[in-house]
Amino acid sequence: MTIYSDKVLKRTHNCGELRLADVGSAVRLCGWVRSYRDHGGVVFVDLRDREGITQVVFGVPDDDSEAAQQQYKLARALRHEWVISIGGEVGPRGEERNNPKLATGEIEVLCNELVLLNRSDAVPFEPDEYHTTSEENRLKYRYLDLRRPEMTKALRLRHQICRVMRNTLDEHDFVEVETPFLTRSTPEGARDFLVPSRMQFDSFYALPQSPQLFKQILMVGGLDRYYQVVRCFRDEDLRADRQPEFTQLDVELSFCSEQDVMDITNQVLRNICELCDKPFPADVPVIDYDESMRRFGTDRPDLRFGMELVDISDLASQTEFGVFNGALGSGGVVQCVVIPGGAVMTRKETDGLANWSKEFGAKGLANTKVAAGKTLETGVAKFLTPIAEELIERTGANEGDLICFGADTKKIVQRVLGELRSKMARERDLVPPGEFKWVWVVDFPLVEYNEDMKRLDVLHHPFTSPNMDDWETKQDTPTEMKSRAYDIVCNGMEMGGGSIRIHQPELQRKVFDLLDIGKEEAEEKFGFLLNALRYGAPPHGGIALGLDRVVMTMIGAHSIRDVIAFPKTQRGSCPLTNAPAAVDEQQLTDLDLKILTPPAEKQ
Ligand code: ASP
Repeated sequence: MTIYSDKVLKRTHNCGELRLADVGSAVRLCGWVRSYRDHGGVVFVDLRDREGITQVVFGVPDDDSEAAQQQYKLARALRHEWVISIGGEVGPRGEERNNPKLATGEIEVLCNELVLLNRSDAVPFEPDEYHTTSEENRLKYRYLDLRRPEMTKALRLRHQICRVMRNTLDEHDFVEVETPFLTRSTPEGARDFLVPSRMQFDSFYALPQSPQLFKQILMVGGLDRYYQVVRCFRDEDLRADRQPEFTQLDVELSFCSEQDVMDITNQVLRNICELCDKPFPADVPVIDYDESMRRFGTDRPDLRFGMELVDISDLASQTEFGVFNGALGSGGVVQCVVIPGGAVMTRKETDGLANWSKEFGAKGLANTKVAAGKTLETGVAKFLTPIAEELIERTGANEGDLICFGADTKKIVQRVLGELRSKMARERDLVPPGEFKWVWVVDFPLVEYNEDMKRLDVLHHPFTSPNMDDWETKQDTPTEMKSRAYDIVCNGMEMGGGSIRIHQPELQRKVFDLLDIGKEEAEEKFGFLLNALRYGAPPHGGIALGLDRVVMTMIGAHSIRDVIAFPKTQRGSCPLTNAPAAVDEQQLTDLDLKILTPPAEKQ
């Protein structure tokens, strides 16, 4: 292996730095050959490093020395992604050769020394041409993809955002504490990733879905204010904004109210937005869960556009429309959403929407168009004659709009119209560009009824404190009880959530009872928490912010995979390392494990 001299390795500048003012200086740059052009003897190379691109020129040597000829030959042999060190002098490009698209576009470096540090095989794709290859390929050759300026920018911003998080919390006396990865299950509503224990071969660790229990125990331990930028693991089916492992800013405080947690979170977010030159409101609006569901059909409301849900159950009952009356007759509701300008949609498109709505449990999506003179036309217009005027008045619909109706249980109607609202805003360009709308959603229900399992499920996690007034008065109607949980939402995406916790063991046991977690199960799974709560647990609460989502929002990335250095695919695999992978027999034997289904049958 070659040992290079300091002269070769010590860069005087990076590839994004040189300007006209540097003309005449002797410089040393190192980087990757982004592109090369041989112009009849003169070779031009775009040299790239993480800071930018500089044009390097290799002229035809004017002396016959062996060394000069060798250097020139080497310059002509350079190929994509070879790694080189060059010494040379900065020269002006001259007006007609300036490249206004490059920060260094007014200069070039006239090379007088070229050192080849490494070759590259022919690349499967050039970093700048990443869109010509599949995402799988980009992940397989992630090191090439990472050479793209957008990727480097995303990772550097991510780093800066983490620093702002840490600095803000440091200023408020928070202490970063690491909690274990090899631990027991912490329920956050997903499946656990399990790690078999070799030393206790019939036992498993679970990778934490969050450090929830540890951070609460830190509060019992008197730590007072904790945070951690921490990896969490959830084994669930992946969607575009999910990864099986992701990073949270996890926070917990003692002796605090909801407002205290929200205030410190706002401060962290405000500082992040300032770093990223994005607006953050002096007062973040707060809406309660019921209002959010009623107006937007979701607990992650996107406030950048209107199109709110309008309840028209009372009007619907005055029609002869079977779909409306059927829904109302079985205790359901009729609601609608107005899609501005939606009347241009074709029959095929509106039929498409009706089909799409079935994904969310709806039976269909009736619609009608608002025509001239504020009359209704097409779709279910003929059933709406008796209520047309009032419908238009209540919804504020205008000529050229499309009104879509949901008629079903309240839950299904809110879900489908909420989804419709976001889909239409996205697809029909109704989201004003560059807007950031933050909102806190509070007063979540404590539990909801799980029809399939015939049991009560928590909305947050089982350590969330109920609203104590509700707890005292609504024991017979638990689904009406609110909890002390809160979520922070930006542009329709949940950025984080948390709650005030239960800090008394008796109440924690009663909440476990409500969730049908029996005494023995509670003792076995969470005995250590219940124990800790018995030894002087202070009132406490906290929150976790999703780092990947925050970075994604700040950058305007479409996929979470664009802000993570080594993400997994939708199937949870890593094309770079080929994880997850089979292990050898001996490893299985050591763990006393056996694969029961041969891999071929699992496909
Ligand atoms: N542990 C919760 C989560 O990971 C956040 C919290 O309640 O602080 O979502």
